[in-house]
Amino acid sequence: MTSTSLWHPQTAMSTIEESLTVIASGRGASVRTEDGQDLLDLPAGLWHANVGHGRTRIADAVRRQMADLETYHLFQGMANRPAIRLAERLAALSPIPDAKVFLTSGGSDSVDTACKLARRHWQLAGRPGKRVIVSRQHAYHGLHGFGTSITGIQSNRDGYGGDSLIPETARVPWDDLAATEAELLRLGPDNVAAVIAEPVIGTGGVLLPPPGYLTGLAELCRRLDVLLIADEVITGFGRVGQWFACRRFGIEPDLLTMAKGITSGYLPLGGVLVSRRIWEPFFAETPDAPTFRHGLTYSGHAAACVAAEENLSILEEEGLLERVLDLEPVLAQALTPLRDHEAVVDVRAGTGLLAAVQLDPDADARPVLRAAREGGVLTRLLADNSLHVSPPFVITAEEISRAADVLKSALDRAR
Ligand code: PLP
Repeated sequence: MTSTSLWHPQTAMSTIEESLTVIASGRGASVRTEDGQDLLDLPAGLWHANVGHGRTRIADAVRRQMADLETYHLFQGMANRPAIRLAERLAALSPIPDAKVFLTSGGSDSVDTACKLARRHWQLAGRPGKRVIVSRQHAYHGLHGFGTSITGIQSNRDGYGGDSLIPETARVPWDDLAATEAELLRLGPDNVAAVIAEPVIGTGGVLLPPPGYLTGLAELCRRLDVLLIADEVITGFGRVGQWFACRRFGIEPDLLTMAKGITSGYLPLGGVLVSRRIWEPFFAETPDAPTFRHGLTYSGHAAACVAAEENLSILEEEGLLERVLDLEPVLAQALTPLRDHEAVVDVRAGTGLLAAVQLDPDADARPVLRAAREGGVLTRLLADNSLHVSPPFVITAEEISRAADVLKSALDRAR
């Protein structure tokens, strides 16, 4: 029995004493452990540290905000100024024209919000039968109620009541439009509220969409009158070299979820971009206009919004989106040779600073992680036994090359 009081998410607690790594500080693309070891942070925490660690500029802005006002909620017409400012800025960056912004505390909140909005939309449109949320195999959409029900990663669904946790969900193959259309027709478009998709599947193993897949999915949803929710919790805020992956892939969803890179993790925040078709009834200037009965104490937390504003300014002023596009081929070229390694099944890279080095699904990857750590490189495993690579945008070409060398010798040593 371990002695810790802290229960770690997604962790085999029986092994905590050997696996525990306490990160004490960070600068740029690296973090330092409590024991003083510097590690190149290849996963950027959990895909969140887009502008990198140790940004005192964000800390200073947050401190100033907190000294004035920690936050004030947004319920029943109350507000704080940073939330209003941030919403204007996000609407201007949105790939959805004329979007409204619903702020949350994180990615799972954003997914629940988007799914509830999709169902509510159809109810208000006089088609209350449209309730099914369709998601893709290998998908990860957080771990709240909807996220747990719609994930395509079975181990995250098991044990909570399966399909009865949130009824009326369905899964389709992650890359097959014909099968998706067949399933939508089988369910009946009159029963389907929305399809939700990560533009690039992240936790499921960095699965890049086949050419034409996302535009085809958007066209299919339009044709069958089903809403499209883009889950950009990972891909938003520059991860694929544009503010949002929807722009890069040329699609315009009805709802877009965001979190992580919105503040680069300096404080917890998330949000949903909402298209006119969905927000319009709620904003109608009539006495019977509906209210969206949803929200969180910390929807639009003032200090978190200030962190987001400062983070967006850093992304803009330092040209970090362009930097991601410059580094995209550097990362792909550094990692692709690992495909020839006998312990590697596949390497997926080439869209932004997002990559995975997939090991045999049955291989014990722990020795590889340990050897990489000894070489000064931190990585972790994705759902398909891939090494997770999504570094902060401030990583240098030299650091990418060093990381690839360390991963190669870690794979050699763990043979
Ligand atoms: N959606 C996607 C695509 C994610 O990758 C994640 C987290 O990794 C989430 C939603 C959930 O976000 P959070 O952990 O902030 O609740």
